[in-house]
Amino acid sequence: MAVEDEQQSPLHILFFPFLAPGHLIPIADMAALFASRGVRCTILTTPVNAAIIRSAVDRANDALRHSTDCPAIDISVVPFPDVGLPPGVENGMALTSQDDRDKFYHAVTQLREPFDRFLADDRPDAVVSDSFFYWANDAAAEHGVPRLAFHGSSMFARSCSDSMLRNDPLETASDDPDAPVSLPGLPHRVVLKRRQMMDPRKRPDHWKLFQSINADDQRSFGEVINSFHELEPDYVEHYKTTLGRRAWLVGPVALGSMDMSGRGTSAPSPEADSCLRWMDAKQPGSVVYVSFGTLTSFSPAELRELARGLELCGKNFVWVVGRADPESSEWMPEGFAELMARGDRGFIIRGWAPQMLILNHPAIGGFVTHCGWNSTLEAVSAGVPMATWPRYADQFFNEKLVVEVLKVGVSIGAKDYASGVEAHEVVAGEVIAESIGRLMGSSEEGVAIQKKARDLGVEARSALEKGGSSYSDVGRLMDELMARRS
Ligand code: UDP
Repeated sequence: MAVEDEQQSPLHILFFPFLAPGHLIPIADMAALFASRGVRCTILTTPVNAAIIRSAVDRANDALRHSTDCPAIDISVVPFPDVGLPPGVENGMALTSQDDRDKFYHAVTQLREPFDRFLADDRPDAVVSDSFFYWANDAAAEHGVPRLAFHGSSMFARSCSDSMLRNDPLETASDDPDAPVSLPGLPHRVVLKRRQMMDPRKRPDHWKLFQSINADDQRSFGEVINSFHELEPDYVEHYKTTLGRRAWLVGPVALGSMDMSGRGTSAPSPEADSCLRWMDAKQPGSVVYVSFGTLTSFSPAELRELARGLELCGKNFVWVVGRADPESSEWMPEGFAELMARGDRGFIIRGWAPQMLILNHPAIGGFVTHCGWNSTLEAVSAGVPMATWPRYADQFFNEKLVVEVLKVGVSIGAKDYASGVEAHEVVAGEVIAESIGRLMGSSEEGVAIQKKARDLGVEARSALEKGGSSYSDVGRLMDELMARRS
């Protein structure tokens, strides 16, 4: 391309999301956001993962067609590497055994080849690649393409994680699993229980990987963050000034999605429409929404207590049961089947729920969540307060942000950092019911939490509007990438 043509052509950004819905969904939303500002966007992924984001991308392209100066978003589909996984098993949600997980991570490293090829053939202006593709930084550097890291987490959790990985505060903490462990160097005092944190002595391989990912992210051109400045200003300042890291906050990206009903799936639950109609008949703020993202599982004992908690709390509820069999006597407490049969108190969704539509429905007054960052930010954007029930990854950090810093939630009291089901102490139904009651009730505490959540929802929307903080960060990043061309 001639130099003159190159300077006039739109910026081209390659997006390379990790193969899990919690990473693919925000990246598809983010590509739509950049495309609406005139950036040519390509998303590189494999067939099954492309199907997950296809409807979001198609709808964004339909909307962009009305604007003459916006190029379309492309999905560049590459084969999933043949590593002996059954056909169709291409992402984190489909893995059921350790053997499959090992094969999956082997496949992930093999994606470097199509990534390299794309960079060599298409020479995009920048690549937004997932932090879990730890080799992407070097690959992009080899091709002279600036690499922006995407971790899919909050500024608060990124800061906590940085503190933890640098200081290893568990090393000097007491061995008591309930011992308080403080994360040094942060704007607030952040204290977790020992058992709520990743322990490098239990998984040295994970710890080393996370340390090297953290260092790679820091070496990259910068990071794009699905958050907004007004949500966590102290941590934006900490990240940029104290830690010296470059970050652009461009969210909440879900608010720009054109595909609220089919977002994140090629097969929405057949019960989605009837669930929304069921909620139409409920009083504003009277329904609690219960969902734990795409990767989290609960033991039968935990499910039993959750069902009891929902019955005891007296609120209406919508429960996305995920992998659990909603008819199983293995966990169903006495009387729960009869409660569900009555139809007026609760609605169970099997399969994929239209989460953004549910959270933004006026009947919703609270959200029981595992604190995955997408779900957390979606609730913030919808002005919905949260009952927090973290399990692993960045979820315990996000709980601290929600409950102690933002004060838009109540903790259920989860104690154990673990991705499996058996390692979690069972939370009693009474405790779950009490947390939901505190969150959605009319006590001074409940009213303050509900008001703060509503106010944050308003700020989230403003951030994306023209002149808002995230709108401006997108513009600043584009200007910087454009300036690199010359
Ligand atoms: N999600 C959804 N419907 C479902 C389950 C999940 O729309 O039935 C979406 C949810 O809105 C969020 C994402 O899937 O955007 C889950 O991401 P999160 O970070 O909350 O959790 P993860 O699955 O990564 O643990």
